[in-house]
Amino acid sequence: MSRLGIGLIGTGYMGKCHALAWTSVHAVFGDVPSIDLVHLSEVTDDLARQRAGEFGFARSGADWRALVADPEVDIVSITTPNQFHAEMAIAALEAGKHVWCEKPMATSLADAERMRDAARISGRVAVLGYNYIQNPMVRQIEAILAAGSIGTVNHFRVEMDEDFMADPTTPFGWKSDAKSGYGALDDFGVHPVSLIHTLLGRIARVLGHQAMPYATRPVPGAPPRAVETHDIASVLCELDTGASGVIALSRSAWGRKGRIALQIFGDRGAIVFDQERFNELQLYAADGDPATRGFRTILAAPVHAPYDRFIPAPGHGLGFNDLKIIECHELLLRLAGRPSRTIGFDAGLSIERTIWAMHESAVRGTWTSVPE
Ligand code: NAD
Repeated sequence: MSRLGIGLIGTGYMGKCHALAWTSVHAVFGDVPSIDLVHLSEVTDDLARQRAGEFGFARSGADWRALVADPEVDIVSITTPNQFHAEMAIAALEAGKHVWCEKPMATSLADAERMRDAARISGRVAVLGYNYIQNPMVRQIEAILAAGSIGTVNHFRVEMDEDFMADPTTPFGWKSDAKSGYGALDDFGVHPVSLIHTLLGRIARVLGHQAMPYATRPVPGAPPRAVETHDIASVLCELDTGASGVIALSRSAWGRKGRIALQIFGDRGAIVFDQERFNELQLYAADGDPATRGFRTILAAPVHAPYDRFIPAPGHGLGFNDLKIIECHELLLRLAGRPSRTIGFDAGLSIERTIWAMHESAVRGTWTSVPE
C-alpha cells in the first residue's frame, strides 16, 4: 500500500500528538507509506472544522461514525476520553479499519475483552498509546538487561507523579468522573505496567491501596461536585520471575510534572531512569575498584536507535512528541508485517487485567493474583 488514509477522533492533548505524529512519520522514517489526513471528528462541527484546518485534514464533522465509515480512512486514531474507547475502537474494527487507541484501553475489563475480541475477529492492527516504551533510552535499558550487565533483577520501583490535579481548586473534569475509570491506577498505572511488562516480565500478584486527596472539586456556577476517582495509588508487586517491586502513583503531587522514575536493582548493578530527564539513564556496575564505583550517566545519542532518525547530534535530545512519532512508525511496521515494538489489544488486555487486580486488591485489602 503506497498511501494510507487517517481518521482522527478527538483533538485535545493527545489528538494533537497523534496529528503531529501522522504529519511527521514519513519524513522522519521514510520507510512507510505516504500519509493522507482524511477525516477529523470533534464534539461540534465548528470545532472539527477549526481543528481540521489547523491540522491539515481534508474532511471534518461531529459524527465520529461517519469518520469510521469513510472509505478513504484506513487507520483510526482514537484520542477521546477513556469511556469512549471501547465503542469507537470496536466500531472502527468492525468497519475494517486499523486502530491506534489511546490508553487506558477501556474503563472496564469486560469492555477491554470485547475490544480484544473485535481486534482478533477483524484481523486488523489494533495498537495502544503506550509511548514511554518507545523511548530510545528505555530500549537501551532493555539491551542492558538482556546483556546481563546488572545481573539478575530482584527488585524495581516506579514512581509516576504529576501535579495537574494537585490544586484543590482545580474544577471537576472528566478525570474525576467514575465514568473515566478508577483514577490514578488506569490513568497513570498503565504506563508503569507497560514498562514493567516490556522490561522485566509479567506482574503475577499485587497488593494495592488507593487514596482520594480531595473529596470534592468546584464546578463553575454550581455547587462543588463529589470526586469519584482516586488521584493517588500505591501497589506492592511480585513478578512471575519472583522479583518484587513497588509502584507509586499520584496526579496530585505538587512540583512533579512528568515524573516516571524507574529504578531496577539486580545482583550486579542497578539502572535508574526518569521521564523528566528522559534523554539520559544511569547505570551502576558493581565491579572494578569499589573506591571508584558510582552511577555513570549515559546520554541519548544516534547510537540509541531510532534517535538517529531525528537528529545526527548526540546529547541534543528528543521530546515527548517524538515518542509518539516512533510509536506511529512501530504501528506502521506492524501493519506491514514487520517486527514491531507495539502493545496491541492482546498485550493491552494483560495490562488492563493487572490494573483491575490492583483495584480489586485495594478494595478488598488483600494480595490479589493477576488473571492470565
Ligand atoms: P482531552 O480532554 O485533552 O481531549 C479529548 C478530546 O476528545 C476533546 O477535544 C474532546 O472534545 C474530544 N471528544 C470527546 N468526545 C468526543 C466525541 N464523541 N467525538 C469526537 N471528539 C470527542 O483529553 P486527553 O488528555 O487528550 O486524553 C484523551 C485520551 O488520551 C485519554 O484516554 C487519556 O487517557 C489519553 N492520554 C494518553 C497520554 C499518553 O501519554 N499516552 C497522555 C494523556 C492522555
